[in-house]
Amino acid sequence: MHAQHYSPQGASQMASDAANPLPRRKVVVLKALDDDQMSTLREHHDVVVLPEGLSTQAREDALRDVLRDAHGLISSGHVITPSLLDAAPVLRVICSVSVGYDNYPLTAMNARGILLCNTPDVLTETTADTGFLLIMATARRAVELACKVRDGQWTESLTPSHFGTDVHGKTLGMIGMGRIGAAIARRGALGFNMRIQYSNASPKPELESELGATRVELDSLLETSDFVCVTVPLSEQTERLIGRRELELMPASAFLINIARGRVIDEGALIECLERGGIRGAGLDVFEQEPLPASSPLTRLPQVVALPHIGSATHETRRAMAQRALDNLLLALAGESPLSAVNETHWTRR
Ligand code: NAP
Repeated sequence: MHAQHYSPQGASQMASDAANPLPRRKVVVLKALDDDQMSTLREHHDVVVLPEGLSTQAREDALRDVLRDAHGLISSGHVITPSLLDAAPVLRVICSVSVGYDNYPLTAMNARGILLCNTPDVLTETTADTGFLLIMATARRAVELACKVRDGQWTESLTPSHFGTDVHGKTLGMIGMGRIGAAIARRGALGFNMRIQYSNASPKPELESELGATRVELDSLLETSDFVCVTVPLSEQTERLIGRRELELMPASAFLINIARGRVIDEGALIECLERGGIRGAGLDVFEQEPLPASSPLTRLPQVVALPHIGSATHETRRAMAQRALDNLLLALAGESPLSAVNETHWTRR
């Protein structure tokens, strides 16, 4: 008989089912959650938290070691390889504290029946705020000019050489019109009276009605948008979706914003384009290599606003993401459907 139930609102409900307690499992956590969340997890399972401050290789070695007999993993920011899965024969579920899952070997997980959970929805609005922050900051040259104030270089009144570009009333081209893309487009259309066009795998008729958005081919979007904003997931199809040819389609007055993943844009081609004035500026939250090496020209070009991957990084949202990952893990280890999963149809419930 199985009375194994976990309610996301009250994990204690599960533990209180004394007649039918769930087996305690070993769970590995890459980065500690909030104290109360760690306590909830420890009520139900035996938890190993990887120490902080390890080098990438040391972290990989430590993870390989602790995964040998682990059933669950709460992960973020670490690339999980098929070889790591080979070292984890009883692993049932990986819960990522992220919506993007390009760090996980989905095909290998499917083949092994391992469930992959992610955290959509709870980070949509915060990430869209960051996207709009980049639109505003690049257009109005906020970082470049604020640095002048900080450096004591605001010594006379501004000249047109310091002026920025209007955002309101312009054309916003969304590459990707999913949850985050739609939330950015909504800010543009409703808050800034922007004309919205988008390129997306499938049409979004409801957003076309709501926002007056128009679906266009990618090339046309690049040629005719004042602001191009990338919000597609990284996949084989989207890797380097924006390369030299695509950047050359953009007018010299346009701005490129990337809030998705660095590898969706050919970074070398972008740097070359920015250096020759091919586009006016770029707002980037994500990079091919993170942390962005200090030697990258992107750290120095004044028309670039580079953020250290802060898309969802607010206290409220990171806590909500951690809670979603925790809920997903507890549900999955109880054999129940998680709140959000990527490959539930491939999951072998054991
Ligand atoms: P989502 O709702 O799945 O939206 C992705 C959209 O991209 C979907 O509308 C999808 O089309 C479209 N798409 C997928 N592949 C495509 C392709 N090859 N060509 C054209 N369109 C394609 O995901 P989301 O929640 O908005 O998140 C999007 C991405 O943002 C994540 O995967 C992650 O990489 C990134 N992200 C970054 C941060 C950050 O901190 N910077 C934070 C959160 C997320 P369909 O609708 O037809 O499926």
